Amino acid sequence: MNVDMLIPKLLSLLLLWVTIVRGFIPPAPGQQKSQGHPKAPVSRPVLVPPSELVLSATEVPSEASKAGSAGTLKAMQKFAEKYCEITDTYFCSDLEIAATVVKGLAKHKDEYGAPLCPCRHYEDKAAEVSIAYWNCPCVPMRERKECHCMLFLTPDNPFVGKEQKLPDDVLAKVQV
Ligand code: SF4
Repeated sequence: MNVDMLIPKLLSLLLLWVTIVRGFIPPAPGQQKSQGHPKAPVSRPVLVPPSELVLSATEVPSEASKAGSAGTLKAMQKFAEKYCEITDTYFCSDLEIAATVVKGLAKHKDEYGAPLCPCRHYEDKAAEVSIAYWNCPCVPMRERKECHCMLFLTPDNPFVGKEQKLPDDVLAKVQV
């Protein structure tokens, strides 16, 4: 190997060393380094227990959209019942918890076009909807049957009930 060939060889070995040892590949101009999972939520969500599903002062809606329009509410009720069936999950033994969550989903569907999980706090609900990670059924539910709202409970859950149907009167009783 002559000197003319040695210099490019050494340069390429040096570049390889930098890449392997430091794990660093400079981003192309204008290209940003990844900030994690592409579908990760834009804000760090904060768990809100179903019993505390309340409207914030900044989003007091009209009476019509307060708990989802009648059609949306019915659609969410049917969705929840069907989803229980196909995933072998059940509503909580306290059906009012399921009813509260379903009403929260319907409200988000009416206001943002998708049933964003109602049991979390979001900095920007519209942005979260577009990411779709927390659109019901959320990714944790679809991947691991984990529903922190306690809407869909597996048979081994200590709070599980026996119902896969959500009665209209229970739905009508709860307020969100
Ligand atoms: S499945 Fe996910 S999005 Fe739907 S209610 Fe449960 S936790 Fe919320």
